[in-house]
Parts: sequence; structure tokens; C-alpha cells
Amino acid sequence: MNEKLLEKKLREKVKKLGGLALKFGTTYHTGMPDRIVLMPGGKANFVELKSTGKKPTTLQVKSLELLTDLGFKAVVIDSQESLAQFLNNLIQ
Ligand SMILES: [Mg+2]
Repeated sequence: MNEKLLEKKLREKVKKLGGLALKFGTTYHTGMPDRIVLMPGGKANFVELKSTGKKPTTLQVKSLELLTDLGFKAVVIDSQESLAQFLNNLIQ
């Protein structure tokens, strides 16, 4: 599935769950994830979206690790399945 479509689905489904999936643009730190997903209760998650079959760049992997080390959930979504899994974890 194409990245833009996955991003649209993520945005819509997070909204239905009562959260926000905001564009996460950082001017001074390249490689940061595409979206920050904010959920009720003060939970923040980061998502790098990729078209199915595409891999995150080295910089993107490093940024995800940086966020994970800080204790955030930071994942790659590149398919319908990984989107479903992320949403499942979100509501648990
Ligand atoms: Mg992306």
C-alpha cells in the first residue's frame, strides 16, 4: 500500500479512537518520523510511514531509535497489517 494512503488511514483511525495524528515536521533534525500520534491520557507515539516494500533510511532508523531510547513508542508502518497492529497497541 502507498505511503499517502496509509497516512490517511492512520489519521482517520486515530481520530476515531479519540486521538490526533499530527504532521511532525522538524526543521533542524532530518529523519524524524512523519507523524506524532497523541492519545488521551498524555500518550505520545511516533510513526514513520513507508509504502509497502520501502525501508526507512539510515537517518530515519536513527531517529526512531533516539525516540525509543527516550521511552516513546516509535514505529514504522508500511502495510495494512502493521497499521492494524499499531492501532491495536494504541488502545491497550
Ligand atoms: Mg515516510
